[in-house]
Order: sequence, then structure tokens, then C-alpha cells
Amino acid sequence: MMQAKNIGGRIVSWEVDTNTIRLLIPWAARRPERLALELQGMALPVFQTHLAILYDEETHSGGKECPACHEVLVFWEGIRCPRCLRTVPASRGLLAYVGRLPTPVGRMEGDGPRGRPSFKHMYRRLLAGGQQALWDAYFLTVGNQVYFAPPVLSVLPDNCPHAQPSILFWDSYFEVLGIPREHAYTRGGLERASLCIYANWHQDTLAVVLQQRIIPRIIIDLCLADLAAVGQLYAALRRLGTDMHGVYNYIGKPRLSQAFKQVYDQYVTID
Ligand SMILES: [Zn+2]
Repeated sequence: MMQAKNIGGRIVSWEVDTNTIRLLIPWAARRPERLALELQGMALPVFQTHLAILYDEETHSGGKECPACHEVLVFWEGIRCPRCLRTVPASRGLLAYVGRLPTPVGRMEGDGPRGRPSFKHMYRRLLAGGQQALWDAYFLTVGNQVYFAPPVLSVLPDNCPHAQPSILFWDSYFEVLGIPREHAYTRGGLERASLCIYANWHQDTLAVVLQQRIIPRIIIDLCLADLAAVGQLYAALRRLGTDMHGVYNYIGKPRLSQAFKQVYDQYVTID
């Protein structure tokens, strides 16, 4: 399975070294068939920016970093830096993926941004506010189409698949969207927000968790950010008889999500 990363405008690609994964990740050695399922799932085009890494909770990126250039190390003929290509000795750890989850939010036209109110609001706030680094961290542009694409760190537990993965957003996620932080808790004092996923765990692969839980979560957060951008978030929640905590129960429940959509459509116009 190939992975690739854009490093300073140059695309570097490599074959994922599953032997090294099995050497360093105890569950992967015990359950090679499960490892194959996880890797296959994460090879879907929607996850093309997601790289398999060796988790290191001390680092900002979430992955063990190159001692020379601080690039996140990958499984490439050992543990290797995709920037300066040196291999680095490593000890046992956890398998994680770090990458971006894109949702289309609008487009750039000659006279400015078009699309979701939250996108236009974030565009003005981040770029006019001189926060280019946050803009680059959260948005991807392809042609004139713009995607909200937050960085996500997914950590598979040491007893995989018996426990669920930890899915983490950076703390800046809520700040960028301009909504209160809900259904997220701080993990180990890091500047990351770990998301609530399942009350009952059915051993789904990471790819299924991201598609069925995390992408829908990002979409509802964008809807809440749209309501916040037009100044009607709390009015909408009051009309639904809920609050910022309870509104997440509206995800995936047909009758409730229909009620949410009706209120949302009265306040939000997408141009
Ligand atoms: Zn390096």
C-alpha cells in the first residue's frame, strides 16, 4: 500500500512497511488480518492525506518526529523521515493516523467567497485577522472550490480492536469554527480535543468510524457554525428545545434531524 506526502511542493511516496508495523505495534503482530483490514480501509481516496505514524503523545503532531528536521516519521523501510530520508530507531508504540477530513464549504469568486455563512465568516476572520497559519491548517483549496479540512489524529488502542480508537481534533477546531466546545474532552492535558464516539463498541475499523461518526460530526459542527455566523445559534437551539450539548443527539435520528433542518433552513442561506 502506497502513501504520499507533499513536502515543500515535492510529492514523496513510499510503500507502507507492514513488517515494521508488526514489529513495533503488539496488537498488529497478534492480529495481522485486522491490521490488513485497517490499512485497506484507510487506503480509500477520502483518506488520501492520512498517513500511518507511530504515536507519540509528547509531540504537537501526535507522531514521533525526526530528530533532525522535526518532520513526522512514517513506516517506510523502517521508521523514516519523508523529508530528509534518515531512518530513526524506534521502540514499541501505538499505530495512529494523522490527516485532514475535507468537506466542501464554498468557492472563491472574483469579488470574494461564496457558500456557507460559516465559511465566509471564517475566511474574513482568519485572513483579515492575520491568522494565515490557522487558515492553512483548516482549509484546502482545489481550483476555486474550498474545503473545510480539519486535521484529525486517530490513535488505535493497544488492545485493538477490543477498544475503540481515540479520535482527536486540535483545540483550535472550536475556535476556528466559532462554536462552543461540546462532546469533546481533553486527553492528557494536550491541546487536543478527544471526541465521544460510541456508547456501544462493535469493533468497526477506523475507516468506518471516521466515515460514520467523524465526518457527520464535522458536518453538524459546520451547520452550528453557520447558525453562529448569522448570529442565530442560540435562537435556533431555543426553538428546537435543546442546547449545545443536546443538539448532537439530532445527528442520525430522522425525526429530530428533520426538525433541525427546518429551523436551520429558516436562518441560513447558502449562496
Ligand atoms: Zn528529517
